[in-house]
Amino acid sequence: MTILNQVLLHQSNRVGADFQAWLGNHGGEALQMALQEPAALIPLIRDAGLRGLGGSGYPTWRKWEFVATRPGTTKYLICNGNEDEPGTFKDRILLEETPYQVIEGATITALATGIDHIVFYINPDQKGSLETMLNAVEEWERSDLYYAACKALNQPLEYWVMASSGHYIGGEETAAIESVEGRFPFPRGKPPYPAESGVHGHPTLINNIETLANVPNIVRNGADWYRRLGRGDACGTKIYCLSGDVLHPGAYELPMGTPLRELIDTYGGGMLLGKELKAVFTGGPSNTILTPQDLDVPLDFDSVQQRRSSLGTGAMIVVSEGTGIVKRVTEYVDFFAASSCGQCPPCKTGTYYISLLLGKIDTGQGSRADLDSLINLCRILPGTGRCHLLDGAVKVLESSLYHFMDEYEEAIKG
Ligand code: SF4
Repeated sequence: MTILNQVLLHQSNRVGADFQAWLGNHGGEALQMALQEPAALIPLIRDAGLRGLGGSGYPTWRKWEFVATRPGTTKYLICNGNEDEPGTFKDRILLEETPYQVIEGATITALATGIDHIVFYINPDQKGSLETMLNAVEEWERSDLYYAACKALNQPLEYWVMASSGHYIGGEETAAIESVEGRFPFPRGKPPYPAESGVHGHPTLINNIETLANVPNIVRNGADWYRRLGRGDACGTKIYCLSGDVLHPGAYELPMGTPLRELIDTYGGGMLLGKELKAVFTGGPSNTILTPQDLDVPLDFDSVQQRRSSLGTGAMIVVSEGTGIVKRVTEYVDFFAASSCGQCPPCKTGTYYISLLLGKIDTGQGSRADLDSLINLCRILPGTGRCHLLDGAVKVLESSLYHFMDEYEEAIKG
């Protein structure tokens, strides 16, 4: 995964999935460099400006430092590949196409933070990813690179490849910890934070697969190189998952901050013939909507946020004129209602109630009072759940009300 020539990941030749070919293509060099000076890794990642690419945008080095400074010799890294949100498929591609780069990134992370247990936590529906990672880890553990890393850490490095429970909420950090401990992935209350008390009470770092896959390139090429890959103030690259009504949907690794217009027109080949752009659901259904007025927005965490939206996972679901926004939002909220783990009453009843009201409005049976209730729920529900699921459901609803109130008004007129 290197941006330099704007690689289209779905056209990869799978060099990264063959260990010998990967070694011959600079594979392992970053780990060799990291072994020389592990103490320099956290400052390097800080200077590169790497952020959580699973959707948080949180500075990666801070998370690393929290875990590195915790006492204890048993620490866990959960490599989060649970991706389950509609429209997001980047981690699956990375795991299947570049497994050794992901393992190398995770191993460098372990070196930087003193971690001795690495868990590849993968959505069970992605059977190809699980199989690829099982084989790759087996091969890795027989390699000199593995022994060199254990020697540097002064203890054996343990790698696990595990299937998550397959629930959407299993991707939430504390839910992933529960899952790794063998329980249903109920998100935990915070504090304590995972860095303080995670898997079996040990300090635990959770990084997204895409974040980890960037680490070897940063180590090999330096912080400045990575920063310069981004556009404007943004650093590095992002894999945008483009789907919906475009000619060439796919996963595109591009400079962070690539404008939405360029992603759709240049890489996506434009809209499907005869279709006009109506809206883009950014970051998948749990985020918000951009409209044709936002086509020039740079797709980076800060710029998208300034447009009342969020970059999230980088999923861009494009919808064209003629698509009913109320129906689409109803489908997304139904997904959240079905995915709620039910332990927070506002989430359990809130997502159910929003789904019910949207269903009524979408089928022409809604009233003004139903619409007012939806608007009211957008005010009272945010922040009342333990995890981001409830806020995600409200965000997409609120954003659709903001941009497409006329469609709701029409729907309640029958
Ligand atoms: Fe479960 Fe919803 Fe509470 Fe999250 S907000 S913990 S999904 S009930």
